[in-house]
Amino acid sequence: MKEASINDIIIVGSGVAGQSAAIYAARADLNPVVLTGDEPGGQLSLTTDVENYLGFPEGVGGHELVQRGREQAEKFGASFQQASVVNADFSEQPFTLSLSNGEVLSTRSVVLATGASARTLGIPGENELMGYGLSTCATCDGAFHRGNDVVVVGGGDAAMEEALFLTKFADSVTVVHRRDELRASEILAKRAIEHEEISFRWNTELSEIRGSPEDSVTSVRLLSHPDGQPTAKRDAGEDVEIESLDVQGVFYGIGHNPNTGFLQETGVQRTEQNFVITDETTTATTVDGVFAAGDVADDRYQQAITAAGTGASAALDAEAFLDAIEESPRNEVPV
Ligand code: NAP
Repeated sequence: MKEASINDIIIVGSGVAGQSAAIYAARADLNPVVLTGDEPGGQLSLTTDVENYLGFPEGVGGHELVQRGREQAEKFGASFQQASVVNADFSEQPFTLSLSNGEVLSTRSVVLATGASARTLGIPGENELMGYGLSTCATCDGAFHRGNDVVVVGGGDAAMEEALFLTKFADSVTVVHRRDELRASEILAKRAIEHEEISFRWNTELSEIRGSPEDSVTSVRLLSHPDGQPTAKRDAGEDVEIESLDVQGVFYGIGHNPNTGFLQETGVQRTEQNFVITDETTTATTVDGVFAAGDVADDRYQQAITAAGTGASAALDAEAFLDAIEESPRNEVPV
């Protein structure tokens, strides 16, 4: 009877980390299979201009960058499969990955490069209006807001980028931030603060989004407190200012949570915030043969260029692991 084929390496996720791992693994003749996940190309595919990726002095479109990355990986022999992992068994070699399309794949090594997904606030109106005026992606939905007044929530680079992008379409953009200081890099913060169509509501949070799927978003309820973090202040019984603001669009730019749900029963340890824990000097996780790269294991830098770097490291680490299995006397995982 023919044995089911065992892959050398499967890369879970197809953002820059996964693509970079695929290029290195393919060039090492490991015939990598890349599982694209629900967001092929990852977060960059939803980004406009990338200005800080090495080698592009004029900047490069996020979508173009990931398209070229995939082409480069395929050129060296990586194959891309549109599927997500729903269940992983890393308890023995070979590992098995059960996919969203029903397929089960066997592999000797895995690179986790599943990235992170947009955070939400969990406030009233959010579930009902997501996709109906509420969005986590200005690049995707900004063009629906020509002539509108919109709100962007957050004080980091993503929120500033969203706000700047939205000025192309909206009449007014109001950034709502829970403190009176931005977390964003100086260059983006300065651009947003100096932009005529962007105004800031400091020490303010959204407590409700109003509207309906038929009418889309119509207004938001704002809480403010002079010392910031108004929701926490309200919950602690302090007085907060409450106000309603008429807007037709709301964009969240409040960061991302790592996509690690399928790792629950696998022995791959994660931080309290669910980021995969890797070895201090390599991309090795707490399971031999499983490596992690990019935002899924990075609660600090979260840059395209660092994700690409750790992707390359993960492929090199996996290659060394596979060589060690090959050389071990019983062809088993060394302990
Ligand atoms: P981030 O830096 O973690 O910023 C998230 C922002 O959302 C913070 O200002 C935070 O407020 C706010 N926030 C978080 N949870 C909130 C809540 N429940 N309610 C209200 N506000 C909330 O996330 P990011 O902007 O997505 O950036 C992530 C990483 O990607 C960063 O390293 C960033 O530099 C990078 N990035 C770079 C670029 C670029 O260079 N072009 C673009 C996008 C992202 P606090 O400040 O009070 O915590």
